[in-house]
Amino acid sequence: MPGSQPKKPVFRFAPSPNGPLHLGHALSALLNHDMAKATGGRFLLRIEDIDLTRCPPEFEEMIYRDLTWLGLNWETPVRRQSEHFDAYREALDGLREMGLVYPAFLTRGEVKARVADHEAKGAAWPRDPDGSPLYPDDDKKRSETERTDLIAQGVKHAWRLDVGKAVARIGRPLMWRETGDGQTDIMKADPTLWGDVILSRSDAPSSYHLSVVVDDALQGMTHVVRGRDLYAATAIHRLLQELLRLPEPVYHHHRLILGGDGRKLSKSEGSTGIAALRDEGLSAADIRRLVGL
Ligand code: GLU
Repeated sequence: MPGSQPKKPVFRFAPSPNGPLHLGHALSALLNHDMAKATGGRFLLRIEDIDLTRCPPEFEEMIYRDLTWLGLNWETPVRRQSEHFDAYREALDGLREMGLVYPAFLTRGEVKARVADHEAKGAAWPRDPDGSPLYPDDDKKRSETERTDLIAQGVKHAWRLDVGKAVARIGRPLMWRETGDGQTDIMKADPTLWGDVILSRSDAPSSYHLSVVVDDALQGMTHVVRGRDLYAATAIHRLLQELLRLPEPVYHHHRLILGGDGRKLSKSEGSTGIAALRDEGLSAADIRRLVGL
């Protein structure tokens, strides 16, 4: 089209404010910011606070303080997921109209007991890439009447994606473009490894998977740069993008910063917290060096 400008790359750092940011977050935020700068792109910050019980306001304030101290600037207003539950509900409704979601009534305890019982008999229960047991099949067999009755009785339930049905609906292999190893590779996505993922639960109207794909599309992300711990989740994200007809960003999963014990850092590890390191007298340049940038 004459006069049309090439689209600027769009990057984002999307922390969940459920604890102080640590060096792993610093790497993610700095990498996104640097890549945006290097490509003449935009850098956005998104607050992923769908689980309001675990996200008190002070952690969000700390995120702004830590990122500003690291020398980052981002576009405003910042998108806060807790203010957009309607958008996620709409996406869920769309999937429901396609017949791809079902109400799941088993409690966490019931699933745990089922798995333990099964494993006690020496049979392995299938687990997802994060090690959690896949959800049993029971609820998929319920009739519409039974589902409606249980809901009318006020039985708590989540909404799960019928991944098998969803994959069959797409009917062709799912792929994504990955640049995390310094080259572009086309990766094969296998969402069935995750079983029937939760899209909404009684105490949180949207799940990470659903809100992340809705927002990445709504905000026009061209690149998703995040830790390698989310690599496997990309398979579910690609499936949801195809089902909801959302554009597909390029994915770049970066190395993780490991703690002294060789494990992934967690938000409770104060010693690698950005604020704690700042209080010890480290500079923003020291943090860059520490994360290998
Ligand atoms: N909110 C997620 C986290 O803090 C990151 C989501 C993403 O980058 O896709 O782990």
